[in-house]
Amino acid sequence: MAKPVVAIVGRPNVGKSTFFNKLAGKRIAIVEDKPGVTRDRIYADVEWLNYNFTLIDTGGLEPESKDIILSQMRAQAKIAIETADVIVFMVDGRTGLVAADEEIANLLRKTGKPVLLVVNKVDTSKLPDSFYDFYQLALGDPVPISSTNALGLGDLLDEIVKRFPKNDVEEYEDEAIKVAVIGKPNVGKSSIINTILGEERVIVSDIAGTTRDAIDTPFVHGNDKYVFIDTAGIRRKSRVVEDIEKYSVVRSLGAIDRANVCIMMIDATEGVTEQDKKIAGYAHEAGKATVIVVNKWDAVKKETNTMNEYVKEIRNQLSFMSYAPILFVSAVTKQRVHKILETVKFISNQHSMRVPTGRLNDVINEAILLNQPPSDKGKRLKIYYVTQISVRPPVFVIFVNDRELTHFSYTRYIENKIREAFGFEGTPISILYREKG
Ligand code: GDP
Ligand code: GDP
Repeated sequence: MAKPVVAIVGRPNVGKSTFFNKLAGKRIAIVEDKPGVTRDRIYADVEWLNYNFTLIDTGGLEPESKDIILSQMRAQAKIAIETADVIVFMVDGRTGLVAADEEIANLLRKTGKPVLLVVNKVDTSKLPDSFYDFYQLALGDPVPISSTNALGLGDLLDEIVKRFPKNDVEEYEDEAIKVAVIGKPNVGKSSIINTILGEERVIVSDIAGTTRDAIDTPFVHGNDKYVFIDTAGIRRKSRVVEDIEKYSVVRSLGAIDRANVCIMMIDATEGVTEQDKKIAGYAHEAGKATVIVVNKWDAVKKETNTMNEYVKEIRNQLSFMSYAPILFVSAVTKQRVHKILETVKFISNQHSMRVPTGRLNDVINEAILLNQPPSDKGKRLKIYYVTQISVRPPVFVIFVNDRELTHFSYTRYIENKIREAFGFEGTPISILYREKG
């Protein structure tokens, strides 16, 4: 399922961030690559009933002077219009309707996206007289809430989830490999996608006849079916000012959730940036298979050791994904681009690999003989039995005498032994412990 995006738009001080903080569950900080600009709290995962969505606080961009409030609001509205599935337009029930509200309403009304007009700071059950003025914005029934008193939030969330797009994501056959091309703006995501889709041996499914925008791009290569996830989001170029391009990362995250395999793009001319680490970290945490693709390799001046040095640097910066293969490509000269799908297919297989329990236990027993499990206060960790409980990503359960005795360095040792024996290239693996009486 696609994860819908909800954006909050509104004048400064109407209560956007108060509202955001009330709803925000797990937060993902986004750090801009520019020095000195660190903003977190831009978006958060929210759960309501059976829905999961991403909430964006476009107010993360505060104007530095009053003069530019209006232009900032236009920028906010643009982000919302380009990124969001549902727009929450927040106004202030205490100050009542003001001209700037009308200005923004005019922009939002034209989008064709669902807009919910929310009147904040209605702190009691009695609606203020000014409430009715908001009907003039012609955005339907205003929804009263109080962010500070947490009033009306449940009803509002009900209204939000009702407006999520229905069935806008197709279900793909199980054998299709779902691929997310991820990375920061301008790294070459759309160039790579177009180069791969432009290859002779790739057959892009005929989607003519469908009325809505196709979100994903299914295609066939050799005997294998693939889907590029959220190509609409990548190919529809955002014209918003550079300062706010980080919002496009939200789309990357949504695509990761729906994919099996991620193509994590790095710009060879820039090296690994903070933003890259965040995005790659998300793919890792989500348990996806990943290939690291260093693009724009044509633009790098090369000496004998350039590639080796580069590999070292990536391993260093993205140390949590030492399992990911690295490819150096150029979307412009097409150098090694044909390797990408080959690698995607390979790591997709590794990601779904299930190893035989007998062999797995042989490997672990041998590992234990070579390097004894840790002990504490005279008590030693005993490993009884190991089994793989799932694939995509592979998860192993180790039955032990006492979980307290486990140690991350020993877990890493076991992980390395499993990888040595079976591969699992390109995929994170998880190891869990269970006590057995
Ligand atoms: P933003 O600029 O739109 O993000 O607004 P903030 O969330 O920073 O809120 C601006 C001010 O309004 C703060 O002083 C908040 O405490 C206050 N505020 C926010 N929500 C409410 C509310 O529901 N009721 C009242 N009375 N004040 C609120
Ligand atoms: P996206 O924002 O990640 O989708 O990036 P684009 O595909 O739009 O590419 C951003 C810019 O980088 C464009 O100007 C491309 O022409 C350029 N670019 C993309 N791939 C390469 C490459 O392999 N080599 C060079 N030199 N430039 C590239």
